[in-house]
Amino acid sequence: MTPDPGTDCPVMPAATSTAPHGLLAWEHARFDRITADLALPEATVCALHCATRSVTVELPLPHDDGSTTVLLGYRVQHSDALGPAKGGTRYRQGVNLDDVTALARLMTWKTALHQLPFGGAKGGIDCDPAALSARERHELTRRYLLAILPLIGSQVDVPAPDIGTDAQTMAWMVRTAAEAGVADPAIVTGKPVLLGGSRFRAAATGVGAAHVAQRAWEHLGHRLKDTRVTVEGFGAVGSHAALELADRGARVVGLSDISGTITDPAGLDPRAVQDWVTSGHDLASYPDADRLEGSVLTLPCDIAVPAALEGTITDEVAEGLHAQLVVEAANGPTVPTAEARLHDRGVTVVPDLVANGGGVISSYFEWVQNHQRLAWTEADERRRVLDRLDHTWERVAAAPFPTWRDTALSMAIRRVARAMELSGELTARQAPVG
Ligand code: GLU
Repeated sequence: MTPDPGTDCPVMPAATSTAPHGLLAWEHARFDRITADLALPEATVCALHCATRSVTVELPLPHDDGSTTVLLGYRVQHSDALGPAKGGTRYRQGVNLDDVTALARLMTWKTALHQLPFGGAKGGIDCDPAALSARERHELTRRYLLAILPLIGSQVDVPAPDIGTDAQTMAWMVRTAAEAGVADPAIVTGKPVLLGGSRFRAAATGVGAAHVAQRAWEHLGHRLKDTRVTVEGFGAVGSHAALELADRGARVVGLSDISGTITDPAGLDPRAVQDWVTSGHDLASYPDADRLEGSVLTLPCDIAVPAALEGTITDEVAEGLHAQLVVEAANGPTVPTAEARLHDRGVTVVPDLVANGGGVISSYFEWVQNHQRLAWTEADERRRVLDRLDHTWERVAAAPFPTWRDTALSMAIRRVARAMELSGELTARQAPVG
């Protein structure tokens, strides 16, 4: 029998969270199910479960008003079995070690699934970036980067942006590392183009999710033209997904962000909405649309794209969802109980590790270009990212598992397990007998 790694795993460090909740609990539940299905040996399950390294850093931040607060930052390297650990850095109020651990695990599966030479990591700071000035964000980033610098590096662990961080944050990180003696643009990805960033990185996650949505929709026997789509979240991922889906002929009937939800059954123009938002207005005050309360995902539509935060598809949202297809552009948007309801109702889910892989695939190409001192064109990089997504998609869609999540997760887990086995990590980690 496969052990429950949260309780009786023989190599489980005692300090690890005993009662995970939210994203980490969901991740554990999915991991337990797949590793049980694969009937992996106990030592393999435990080795796959454990994080390589998990740190908390305390960051005193002097504010503009003269006060100082201490903020908590995290970096979790879940796996380096397939290459340097890789994953974003999240600045968000309430981020904690469990969330970062869950997201690091998801990165391990994501990079493995897309056959990238990376492991999985994630970082974060519990802060509200919108409440900080640019100087405070810069200072916080410098302190965070210096605190984790001994643990990262282009061959060790490569941070990138995530919610609440962007190319500017990465630029500060590169510069801080250089000043501390580690001058290497490949130490982070998602940088500004001028500093070695890739031209497609900012759009890659959203465009990739739109591409996968089209592939999945066609796989289900439909055409994208005039298909009704809703997108939850109009930030770095959702805006690009909405723009790309509209460019490919879909009808974007609902959009939302923190300010509210807007709808037009005849179709919104995401480009006009983006102009409205970038000129300083709230999305919810967009004039050529109706406003409504509640989740945009429950509007009448064919494809629902959650591109905001984790856990937005609750049981209630799942019950009210009209779409036939959910494409997870965000990480962890579907609560497992809600996913079971969707499954019972015949709604198909393209899981996060498949749908939003365009971001880390683009990061991989940025890292490759940095190492080769090359700069590809945007078109070249876009083609390579979408080709890699196609390659993954075809393998996932061809497999006989009941859900695409199970297929993708089991492919990823098997790949990481195989790498650990080949490198002797499993035997080396086993306790000596006798
Ligand atoms: N934060 C993104 C993700 O969750 C990208 C990570 C990266 O580019 O390393 O996939």
